[in-house]
Amino acid sequence: MVQSIKKISILGSTGSIGISTLDICRQHPDRFEVVGLAAGRNIDLLLQQISEFKPKIVSIHSEEDYQNLSSKIPTTTEIVFGSSGTCAVATLSECDLVISAIVGAAGLAPTLAAIEEGKDIGLANKESMVIAGEIMSERAAKNNVKILPVDSEHSAIFQCLNGENVKDVNKIILTASGGPFLHTAPNEFEHITKEQALKHPNWDMGAKITIDSASMMNKGLEVMEAHWLFNMPIEKIDVVVHPQSIIHSMVEFVDASVVAQLGEPDMRVPIAYALSYPRRMTTQVTPLDLTKHRELTFYKPDLEKFKCLKLAFQVASKGKTYAPVLNAANEVAVAAFLQDQIRFIQIPELIDVCLQAHMPISIDSIDTILSADSWARKFVITSIGNIS
Ligand code: MG
Repeated sequence: MVQSIKKISILGSTGSIGISTLDICRQHPDRFEVVGLAAGRNIDLLLQQISEFKPKIVSIHSEEDYQNLSSKIPTTTEIVFGSSGTCAVATLSECDLVISAIVGAAGLAPTLAAIEEGKDIGLANKESMVIAGEIMSERAAKNNVKILPVDSEHSAIFQCLNGENVKDVNKIILTASGGPFLHTAPNEFEHITKEQALKHPNWDMGAKITIDSASMMNKGLEVMEAHWLFNMPIEKIDVVVHPQSIIHSMVEFVDASVVAQLGEPDMRVPIAYALSYPRRMTTQVTPLDLTKHRELTFYKPDLEKFKCLKLAFQVASKGKTYAPVLNAANEVAVAAFLQDQIRFIQIPELIDVCLQAHMPISIDSIDTILSADSWARKFVITSIGNIS
């Protein structure tokens, strides 16, 4: 059977997920055409991507970079900039599938714009689902859009649920590597440095998600992402620490049967599944050889040590505008930690103070979410100013 070529746009093309997505498209030129790219500030890499993939439209973050880029790219590629530019890439009429891989709440607007235009979504931007899960799910259903998880845990769950009835699920078990501080004593947390936090044992990722993994906020965000993606109550979502990152997540069914998805930790596998769904395709990833792994171990997460995960669980069951506030407070705190303005243990402290000061309201629109988000950002920036 002749397969039609799927046309792909990538939001966040110069980040870790964007680069891996293009790597897969490069290996399967008969299946994918890259029609749109949106990037932040890495112009050199974006220029290489433009010359290799010849997209129809490209967006860059700043107007200044847009001026620089305009003279360097072929006239067959349209160039735009800013958040309206990202939305233009997300909604390009000929695009079939948008890989949403911008970091943070900034990914929400272009992802929603793509959903409104009926584009299927490969979702790596978990923050959009965390802060606006209900609205995203509703609009995806209305526009007959598939949201295909790219996050490795959610791709695993998605695969485990294939052909199953959600009513037969007892619980979802999200695995967590535990990050670089799994065995660090609680009293040593105050001395954690940026360099230590940026060294993830298993996954090679961008700075923000690497810090989130070290604090285990990443797993907290993933609990909320799973809640909305799979329409599963929070009480039915468990987190198990599994340092080897070989089991990417599991589903337990009512008959006590547990289905798991395994593989070497390599993001090209979940990305390839989102691109080729419902079929599978070859990747250049080394297949798993279980005889080479001496042991697979599992622990309960320590919520007293990893306070970010505890906060996320609390927020997940409270609903209302708490999730956008937690997410925005975390984004500001992580950025401040990366700029050496605060210490690692201050990340959950700042988020906690912000959550306690927040007056929550029910989410009835995107505006409600965005105003909670901007309130939290200002609150945490002010708090950091008062510390230093
Ligand atoms: Mg993940």
